[in-house]
Amino acid sequence: MKVTEHIAKAKGKTMFSFEILPPLKGQHIQSIFDNIDPLMEFNPPFIDVTYHREEYVYKELEDGLLKKQVVKKRPGTVGICAAIQNKYGVDAIPHILCGGFSQEDTENFLIDLDFLGIQNVMALRGDPVKSETYFRPEKDGNVYASDLVKQIQDLNLGRYLDEELQNTSKTDFCIGVAAYPEKHLEAPSLDSDIHFLKKKIKKGATYIVTQMFFDNQKFFAFEKKCRDEGITVPIIPGLKPIATKKQLNMIPQRFNVDLPDELILEVVKCKDNNEVRELGVEWCIAQSNELKAAGIPVVHYYSMGRSDNIKAIASQVF
Ligand code: FAD
Repeated sequence: MKVTEHIAKAKGKTMFSFEILPPLKGQHIQSIFDNIDPLMEFNPPFIDVTYHREEYVYKELEDGLLKKQVVKKRPGTVGICAAIQNKYGVDAIPHILCGGFSQEDTENFLIDLDFLGIQNVMALRGDPVKSETYFRPEKDGNVYASDLVKQIQDLNLGRYLDEELQNTSKTDFCIGVAAYPEKHLEAPSLDSDIHFLKKKIKKGATYIVTQMFFDNQKFFAFEKKCRDEGITVPIIPGLKPIATKKQLNMIPQRFNVDLPDELILEVVKCKDNNEVRELGVEWCIAQSNELKAAGIPVVHYYSMGRSDNIKAIASQVF
């Protein structure tokens, strides 16, 4: 079922969903099931599976020279989605990127998803690879997420890259896109970012999932701004419980989000990361309850491969 249909069917009841990362190459898929199993009692209507593009690593050769090698550390997004739908009977949502994909690769990826009965996709640009400062699309690849949304929507209309194909089968993907209550890192302003968010909706996206935030007022202000701009699709907030002291510096730098002073002061007071984890769970429960009271359709959790803290939150909220 499509995300939008799940939301309509819930008739205003807030649902629980979460995102998982494919395991590192070499690990068994059971590690994913071990993370999903404890969360199934909260009836997620869908589970997102992130996509991780290739990275460049340098391997030293015997003669001392360095060899540039392409590695994909977390492959398996499509296979995991198929396995989730098969094992749990729950919709799995693969993330799909502009980065690393030509439009031909994208089309073939979407055909695989369609054949597997996957009805939702999350369309993203992707970040620059570590060795690059700015995002560089593939030759013949999509440049922005809005271009990727257009390609998916074209396939929904039966328009393939090869215009000579006749009597084509139409896909029927429900398309999600990302948004940033505190603005995307590269955007010159929030208004500019929302301008391009609107473009993604105009091209065919039908729901939005936000970047993590730790201050609900930032989300509510963003949601109002979107509504004032005429965006009517569901906006799903993404939450992540803080779990380590190190994240105080890492999260703002990596995700361009501010941490509230009150949270920072409490984290600093913690004796160790066990205490930080407990505090992060409490903070996230309070955020979730407030979002739920405001009638948000779904609260989406970034599990980052750990289900214990998400379970502790969900058991208090859902
Ligand atoms: P876009 O919507 O293309 O926007 C990128 C930037 O370009 C923004 O600053 C925007 O304002 C600007 N922009 C957009 N269109 C134009 C235009 N036409 N002209 C000029 N500027 C423009 N990354 C992964 O690698 N794998 C994942 O699985 C993944 N999942 C994610 C899930 C969520 C919910 C979120 C919020 C992010 C996720 N990301 C993931 C990270 C995401 O790929 C990065 O944040 C990326 O830098 C931007 O992606 P986007 O889809 O928002 O890009």
